[in-house]
Amino acid sequence: MDSQPNQVHMVFFPYTLRSHMISTVDLARLFAKHGVKATIVTTALCAPRFSEAIERDRELGFQISIRIIKFPSAEAGLPEGCEDPSSISSPEMIPMFLHALTLLQHPLTEVLEECQPDCLVADMMFPWSTGVAGKLGIPRLYFDGSSFISMCITDSLKRYQPYKQVESNFEPFIVPGLPHQIAMTKLQVPNYFKDTVDKHGFHKLMDQILVSDLNSYGVLMNSFRELEPDYSEHYRKNMGRKAWHIGPLSLFNRDIKDKAQRGDKASIDEQECLRWLDTKKPNSVLYICFGSVFKIPPPQLHELAMALEASAVNFIWVVRMEENKEKEENKDQWLPEGFEKRMEGKGLIIRGWAPQLLILEHEAVGGFMTHCGWNSTLEGVCAGVPMVTWPLSADQFDNEKLIADILKIGCQVGAQEWSKYEKKTLVKKEDIEKAINRLMAGEEAEEIRSRAMTLKEMARRATEEGGSSYSDITALLDELRALKRSK
Ligand code: UDP
Repeated sequence: MDSQPNQVHMVFFPYTLRSHMISTVDLARLFAKHGVKATIVTTALCAPRFSEAIERDRELGFQISIRIIKFPSAEAGLPEGCEDPSSISSPEMIPMFLHALTLLQHPLTEVLEECQPDCLVADMMFPWSTGVAGKLGIPRLYFDGSSFISMCITDSLKRYQPYKQVESNFEPFIVPGLPHQIAMTKLQVPNYFKDTVDKHGFHKLMDQILVSDLNSYGVLMNSFRELEPDYSEHYRKNMGRKAWHIGPLSLFNRDIKDKAQRGDKASIDEQECLRWLDTKKPNSVLYICFGSVFKIPPPQLHELAMALEASAVNFIWVVRMEENKEKEENKDQWLPEGFEKRMEGKGLIIRGWAPQLLILEHEAVGGFMTHCGWNSTLEGVCAGVPMVTWPLSADQFDNEKLIADILKIGCQVGAQEWSKYEKKTLVKKEDIEKAINRLMAGEEAEEIRSRAMTLKEMARRATEEGGSSYSDITALLDELRALKRSK
């Protein structure tokens, strides 16, 4: 595809965290498909995770490319190769990592000065990028890959601090000013609201992030209007943000290779995985995955293993690499004796990276035990798969409210505590088993499934020509073209 005279050139600057990278790359590919010239600026370590997909797009004629910049690990005092927050191994490294993120403005500015794009789409983690874009006279679009409901809950918590009105960690309070009566406990509130000391500089960054969506030209939301209409409305009207729905982005991946390799090379041969699923009855398999970051501690894995063994469902369980290493070091700590042997045929454990989209879309998968990361939530919605919600940290407790209480397409396992690290309380085997049984069989399960299937259809329609997200993308591009012409 040749450059058009009024073609918009957009630079996409993703955060190095894998889930942010996945959705920003989908976003860049989506805009390229809409005729935009798209440049993704990233580091040498991150680029191989998606470069094959970009190559395929280029072969199809889309104008999309990758520009590599150096991650300033050494300058910030970090070990070489520490570019992804998952590689932070001690709390002392956090301020250095945050400093490295601010140093990225120099190489990014150089690229922008050289390419002279019409727009910068930068991740939430770079609040300074609004200023960088402003100096170059181009709009910065804010992207953080989370939900409208989470943006609204975060704003209310910040504004009204309702958690200060309750005495105990377990006493519920209502998050004020929202379209629904959303009850939370202090334990579920993110630490950056509650901690009085900003030990690592993270609170300062969060404050900058919370205003940077307001100061930017507008916000791109990986969501669709029909999914959370009240919160989309609240965000625009009551919180005064300019936002476009552009999701669900995962639906952009139609090619089997795109689905199988999204985010990383899968640790299991995708055909082997699909063959295993083919042997199972429709809706009989529970898929369990807690996203790309969180490491579940061994005692909690043990409770989960016991619940899976006790329940009648088949399962695919994704266990992250580090846990695998721990398993090798201390086998009995997380898996009950002889578990894998007894589970042969009933359960498949994937150690490392799973081809999540392919798995969720298979007709044998009837449930998704998820940490409610927003990408995973949307992927569950797009596949029409009911969810067992098990939030851990970040925006996940907010997303759980949407899934379980508002949309009623899932049921809660009963996680109580927001924490990025080890939890003080375990979710017990009995509670896990109860949630699995509730979701996978019976009358209530059928009702949940039927609602999930309706949303799946709505998601598909939103991204097709004439659909709500498709129309928002077209409207944004018209606006960017008009801006370009006015220069
Ligand atoms: N993912 C995957 N395979 C895995 C683990 C995760 O493909 O083994 C993908 C998943 O499909 C989703 C992303 O990684 O797109 C995780 O993002 P999410 O927002 O759900 O959670 P986070 O990783 O930020 O906690």
